[in-house]
Amino acid sequence: MSLSPSRVFAELNTARPPDQPNPMMGTAVVVGGSVAGLLAARVLSDHADSVVIIDRDDPQVAGARPGVPQGTQLHALLPGGLLQLERLFPGFREAALARGAVEAPPEARRNYLDGRPKVVVPDDADTLAGSRPLLEGLIREQVLRLPNVKTVTARAAGLVFDGTAVTGVRCDVGGVAGVERAELVVDAMGRSSRLSDWLEQAGWDRPVTRRMTVHLNYATAVFRRPDVTPPSTVVLALNTSKTEVDVAGAAFFAIEDGRWMAMMAGYGNDRPGRTPEDFVRRLREQFPPEFGEVADQEMLGDVQTYHHADSRRRDFHALKRFPAGLISVGDAVASFNPVYGQGMTSAALHAACLSTYLRSDPDLRAPAHHFLALQRVVVDAAWSISTSADLGLPHVDGPYPRGYRISSWASRQIIAATVTDVTTARRFNDVVSMREHPSALARPGVLLGALRANRRAH
Ligand SMILES: Cc1cc2nc3c(=O)[nH]c(=O)nc-3n(C[C@H](O)[C@H](O)[C@H](O)COP(=O)(O)OP(=O)(O)OC[C@H]3O[C@@H](n4cnc5c(N)ncnc54)[C@H](O)[C@@H]3O)c2cc1C
Repeated sequence: MSLSPSRVFAELNTARPPDQPNPMMGTAVVVGGSVAGLLAARVLSDHADSVVIIDRDDPQVAGARPGVPQGTQLHALLPGGLLQLERLFPGFREAALARGAVEAPPEARRNYLDGRPKVVVPDDADTLAGSRPLLEGLIREQVLRLPNVKTVTARAAGLVFDGTAVTGVRCDVGGVAGVERAELVVDAMGRSSRLSDWLEQAGWDRPVTRRMTVHLNYATAVFRRPDVTPPSTVVLALNTSKTEVDVAGAAFFAIEDGRWMAMMAGYGNDRPGRTPEDFVRRLREQFPPEFGEVADQEMLGDVQTYHHADSRRRDFHALKRFPAGLISVGDAVASFNPVYGQGMTSAALHAACLSTYLRSDPDLRAPAHHFLALQRVVVDAAWSISTSADLGLPHVDGPYPRGYRISSWASRQIIAATVTDVTTARRFNDVVSMREHPSALARPGVLLGALRANRRAH
């Protein structure tokens, strides 16, 4: 099926859930009750009599939890993600602010490059700053308020097949084996999803898994925030190889409960900020003074570290044979270098793909090829943004896509122009915040505009 990627993206970014529920199946089961699974469940609640979310973690446990080890790390919500959340849960923004999330309008966001303020034209869309448990908890609360959604605390152990269709999920509930029957099963088990193994065990092909090794080392710490919040609530600083500093970047966000959340990251053998002393010293010595002001506050708790080995995607869309009654969403399909903050927004766009698919009145007894084709557009877009930026890192050595030299030259021109040219910057921001498809940057007019702006600036 050939779909125009930019049109698909535009439709996903304007699509709304149906005004009226439109049930077309009895039970849908979602395996994984994190951001992607919860958003899929929200969409399914419009189309199924009942939706069951299976997660091995107890949904009542607030805060960080074992099933989401990255939950302690700083999480940015891109404007594209906030847009989707607001559509699925009208009033989401206000509800998040009432819980203590902090507004991050363009004027409250600051960027530094190699220690100098980066005079980029800021993204003119609003977003929110809050911890990952706050955002996930609020989404869960809204989903579990739906009368036809329930959760089961269990470990999913495999799929049940009837011929060429998936008809349920095998579970382990506290040592007791059981089965949840379903007309549609959604895998939202995250990066470590075992769906490929389960397919192979049942005689199907596993999808090709593509990887780009990045070896990113995150460290995050929380600090007390002064009563009067400074004007900048989201501050990012990037260091390029010109600086000879082993920290690739750092950021701090105002989050709920009067706290700052600060992170720093390095690549390969660079593991900055693993102890409180090292973390604070680097914030003071290797970043602009605003970072030092955060470091001067009391650190609350320990430094939390996380190693992210690679970006990876599983190409379910390319499988010749795929069972009916099954889809996969979120990190289970594709997870990216987290510095670009695409994960939750991608999950929200996968939910928009599911909504579009189900609103097209599909035959659920056939494989969900239409869904897979829509989702591929989202995955390709996020993958191209994340991996083309990563290929510019000194320690990343491929795989290089066809035409990489010319496309990376064009990207450099466009990125340089975002510093001085409002039109280029707007378009670029729309793409990196996943509100517009990357092909918007490949139009000749955009490159010409960028080249003209760069000439004017020199
Ligand atoms: C260090 C780091 C920083 C990040 N920063 C950002 C950011 O700034 N912005 C952003 O948008 N994204 C960020 N992400 C990505 C983001 O965390 C994910 O994209 C997002 O959580 C969506 O993931 P998911 O719901 O698909 O999977 P996950 O959040 O990984 O959840 C998987 C769920 O499946 C459950 N599960 C797994 N296996 C089973 C099983 N067998 N049975 C039952 N349950 C099971 C788990 O308990 C868990 O609840 C970051 C990721 C990392 C690693």
